[in-house]
Amino acid sequence: MKKLHVRAGDNITVLTGKDKGKHGKIIEVNPDKGRVLVEGVNMATKHVKPKRMDQQGGIIHQEAYIDASNVMLICSKCKKPARTERRIEDSGRKVRVCKKCGQVIDVIKEAAK
Ligand SMILES: [Zn+2]
Repeated sequence: MKKLHVRAGDNITVLTGKDKGKHGKIIEVNPDKGRVLVEGVNMATKHVKPKRMDQQGGIIHQEAYIDASNVMLICSKCKKPARTERRIEDSGRKVRVCKKCGQVIDVIKEAAK
């Protein structure tokens, strides 16, 4: 399974495409396909057919997956799109940090062994 540079809950900005410059929170990641779902980004229109006679068909808007390489994490401290790196602190704790300002983004939880 490929590791993504972003994860669910991350605040990101979109780098390319029709939603370039938009900010949003990652709802879901698909590491196998390298794609992410972002709140309010890449809204797709779906036509829904009524399944029963008493239901109404219509149009719903929902997010569609975009490539993870098109998004970048926004650092909570410097408020800029930031590259992150993994660092191991003296305590042995593994963290993701902003390469620009060194802000700890989050703690990397190891999978239980
Ligand atoms: Zn930063």
